[in-house]
Amino acid sequence: MEQVVIIGTGCAGLTAAIYTARANLAPMVLTGAMPGGLLTTTSTVENFPGFPEGIDGNELMSRMQEQAVRFGAKIHYGNLESVDFSSYPLKLTIDGDPVEAKTVIIATGSSHRHLGLESEAKLERFGVTYCATCDGAWPQFRDQPLVVVGGGDSALEEATYLTRFGSKVYIVHRRDEFRASKIMRDRALAHEKIEPVWDSVIEEILDVGAGKVTGVRLRNLKTNETSVLPCAGVFIAIGHVPNTEVFKGQVELDAHGYVSLRGGATTSVPGVFSAGDVSDSVYRQAITAAGTGCAAAIEAERYLAALDANEGSGTGEVLVVGTRA
Ligand code: NAP
Repeated sequence: MEQVVIIGTGCAGLTAAIYTARANLAPMVLTGAMPGGLLTTTSTVENFPGFPEGIDGNELMSRMQEQAVRFGAKIHYGNLESVDFSSYPLKLTIDGDPVEAKTVIIATGSSHRHLGLESEAKLERFGVTYCATCDGAWPQFRDQPLVVVGGGDSALEEATYLTRFGSKVYIVHRRDEFRASKIMRDRALAHEKIEPVWDSVIEEILDVGAGKVTGVRLRNLKTNETSVLPCAGVFIAIGHVPNTEVFKGQVELDAHGYVSLRGGATTSVPGVFSAGDVSDSVYRQAITAAGTGCAAAIEAERYLAALDANEGSGTGEVLVVGTRA
């Protein structure tokens, strides 16, 4: 039986792997479909402490993995098919194979919600991005008009951040009012560089033929009129989708599908911990994911120590802390 199974190899999962490996727990670390997580989809990471010149997202993640392996983490390239957390030990099915574990750390992250346009997919990394904090400072965006899509806190936060770089920031929203909090709305709408484009959706991002973003073709949902808005970048901020499908009914999720935490990294299931974007709809940064990965590892380690003490006491009873979902 595994002491710890960590699901996910983004910043949260690999930090948890480093800590649990250094605690001699030989964690099994499952990569899932996107080894390295969302950071591998960005180019230079400039806000991870310790890298004043920035670091390539892929390089950062492969270095974290190397560090975890050095201390004994077992990287397993595979996909989680199902879990059964209803009884102890915790049970997982990975590519058809059953695995039993004393503790599990969920670090499956979240995925950016996509508009679903063909031009969006073709121009991703060529001017279409999902993270202003990661990519806003790219040279091609400097002093150019930029477009943000969405009407929530993320879109307005991204737009406000982008005013540092762009000559103008248009917020394309499908309704005529933002869903974002009042403070974010007031701040964004008061900014001289920000201009909302109400009741509009993007039909196409231009120009796939040129291999870069030159504008967006918009459709006004009230008048049905179409128009072209020139821009050098499109920042899509229409929400995130936590990767929790496989945990539904097994661990408590909040109304938006994120893993609910009960203080620290503790979930509704004893022995199951959660870290990173899968349980964080607010910060969603590489460094906060790493921090919560560390917290989850420490909590798993303490849980195992208590479990060992309990088993060693001769009662033969399994320690159960908290309640199940
Ligand atoms: P969100 O609140 O779910 O907003 C998503 C926005 O995208 C909505 O305005 C929605 O339009 C729009 N949208 C969704 N699907 C779309 C589509 N297919 N095409 C066009 N537009 C679409 O997501 P979020 O802004 O990422 O925020 C998620 C959570 O994190 C929220 O609870 C938020 O408060 C929190 N958050 C907080 C902060 C902060 O406090 N600093 C910062 C970021 C996020 P409709 O409005 O028409 O539905």
